[in-house]
Amino acid sequence: MYSNLLKPLDLGFTQLRNRVLMGSMHTGLEEDKKGLDRLAAFYAERAKGGVGLIVTGGFSPNLRGRLHPFSAEFSKPKHAKAHQVVTEAVHQHGGKIALQLLHAGRYAMHPFAQSASAIRAPIARFAPSEMSTRQINNTIEAFANSAELAQLAGYDGVEVMGSEGYLINQFICQRTNNRYDEWGGDYQNRMRFPLEIVKSIRRKVGERFIIIFRLSMLDLVEQGSTFDEVVLLAQELEKAGVTIINTGIGWHEARIPTIATQVPRSAFTWVTEKVKPHVSVPIVTCNRINTPEEGERIIAEGQADMVSMARPFLADPYFVAKAEKQQAALINTCIGCNQACLDNVFKGKRASCLVNPYACRETELIPVNTDTPKSIAVVGAGPAGLACATTLAQRGHNVDLFERSDRIGGQFRLAMQIPGKEEFRETIRYFANQIDETGVKLHLDTEANADLLSEYDEVVMASGVTPRKVHIDGIDNPDKVVDYQTLIRDKTYVGDKVAIVGAGGIGVDVASMLTEPESHQLDDWLYEWGIDKEIAHPGGLYPYPDAMSDKTVWVLQRRKGRVGKGPGKTTGWIHKRTLEKRGVNLLGGVSYEKIDEQGLHISIDDQPQLLDADKVIICAGQESVRPFENQWPEFGDKLHVIGGADYAGELDAVRAIKQGVELGIKL
Ligand code: NAP
Ligand code: SF4
Repeated sequence: MYSNLLKPLDLGFTQLRNRVLMGSMHTGLEEDKKGLDRLAAFYAERAKGGVGLIVTGGFSPNLRGRLHPFSAEFSKPKHAKAHQVVTEAVHQHGGKIALQLLHAGRYAMHPFAQSASAIRAPIARFAPSEMSTRQINNTIEAFANSAELAQLAGYDGVEVMGSEGYLINQFICQRTNNRYDEWGGDYQNRMRFPLEIVKSIRRKVGERFIIIFRLSMLDLVEQGSTFDEVVLLAQELEKAGVTIINTGIGWHEARIPTIATQVPRSAFTWVTEKVKPHVSVPIVTCNRINTPEEGERIIAEGQADMVSMARPFLADPYFVAKAEKQQAALINTCIGCNQACLDNVFKGKRASCLVNPYACRETELIPVNTDTPKSIAVVGAGPAGLACATTLAQRGHNVDLFERSDRIGGQFRLAMQIPGKEEFRETIRYFANQIDETGVKLHLDTEANADLLSEYDEVVMASGVTPRKVHIDGIDNPDKVVDYQTLIRDKTYVGDKVAIVGAGGIGVDVASMLTEPESHQLDDWLYEWGIDKEIAHPGGLYPYPDAMSDKTVWVLQRRKGRVGKGPGKTTGWIHKRTLEKRGVNLLGGVSYEKIDEQGLHISIDDQPQLLDADKVIICAGQESVRPFENQWPEFGDKLHVIGGADYAGELDAVRAIKQGVELGIKL
């Protein structure tokens, strides 16, 4: 099993122990005061977990290439010295690690941004200045200098970030390169910059050092590269001395999702597969690969020589080791939510992982086995209760987990039924196996009460949430009104016209569920987002018409302002765009008047309107479930409340699981 994925890869001068590359990911530790020690612990854990080659987050080769004013740079001997702690930690566990060199170009969030041409990015605050020939040559030199220092620091190689719309990509594409000199104009000139960078790195580091080039194979922006251009550059990069070519999909400014959970698994491996026959160096594929089965299939079918996974190594550092031991069912699978990784990084916070709060906190969150096992009751087998119960049992406590329904999962059981959120099922599978592994005693269909709980040393209430009751005239008519929980659980028939009260994460999810196209084939998804599989059009874009839904759906909120983005910092735009493409009506500033046989009566700016909905769906947030709360004081200090039972407002699974794990470590 997984014999292709786990097969070593011979690079001539060195061997990788398997075909799994841990893709570059900014963690926020790069800039942290104690960052390099923490980063060393973070990567060491992944090296111990068996990954073949790690690529660090991006480090700028010079000051002006930094993404933020205080972003990490790798350009001086002192940086090389400081990074030795990272490379040594990885090597101690038999791993290999490459430093990613990333120049932000026009994506830099400071006024000293530079690019091929002075064209501001749609997602940037600052317009870049156009680089002079001298600045271009200095930047090439800076890449080579950083690579040489990386070698000195003990890195096994570097990855040159040539994709996602950063500086190198900005030179390659007409979209961002209007130059008339030898660095602009025809394609030969536009690809000169990456080729000169690779050649000068190779000259500095010699033959026995890995150079990976992250090549944007599908830009997903207008005036991006054509397929012929991508192939030509790949071939020239090979001649210039790269060891491995990695795949990049989509610029940051592209308005097409490339890694979010609604992107089908392995949705872009066909791109790498198209390029692969044109080069002879190993080629890596990536994006939404999150299981060893997918990795194995990709390598076995010859789509790529290696698979890159980034977020799956936040979710589970032991991904490879578990695959090796044929324990894939025990892998804590990345569900592609972005909620604790990219969303955090974009807010300037340290990355972690929704399903694995230990990620990037390896030196701070350390579970220690107990010498004095206690009997502990956990009430509620939703995400918070599951995380707490399994952590406690792993440490040696005797844990009873009470769940009043007939299955575990709580709110995740609802989430996994939303099309595009099926990955949440994996977390339930993970916890189900953790219950067995750690010896938690699970009691389904069991309503815990104060009498039962009084016998325990500690009691954890993780009893979750229930949909909020709202007060609108006519809300009690079951033929006309349903709450989201009942709708998803019972698959209630809603008719062709639906009004959704509440435009938070769940209102948006329900709207997208109701308007979801019937087919879930990858080609249909690519078509829905206008992706040209032939890459015959520059950037791989094709303006397919939007596929409007047959249903009439209104999503409503009382607050004025933007409607339909949901809570995700990096995924909100995808939700909104999805709803717009399907013709969903998004209304803010709504007052609810009444619900009757005609539908939902509302007013906006004092103008009455009738939405002739067949069904009104209530997605108005949640309230905590706190059973026998009047008896809680009797438990004193031994009662602990976590997750939605603690606080239902802005409940999200990141907080629920984190609270569960932290309490599980503490008791
Ligand atoms: P929510 O985000 O708090 O949204 C509740 C919605 O209901 C708001 O639009 C609110 O808007 C409206 N509302 C609140 N009280 C109301 C009332 N009394 N009458 C009428 N409308 C009312 O809650 P949610 O949508 O249930 O989501 C719960 C949590 O799940 C979220 O906080 C989120 O963290 C998580 N979640 C995340 C995602 C994701 O993709 N990341 C997806 C789903 C859920 P107005 O008050 O303006 O009317
Ligand atoms: Fe994956 Fe979500 Fe964890 Fe990020 S937070 S690594 S997307 S599971």
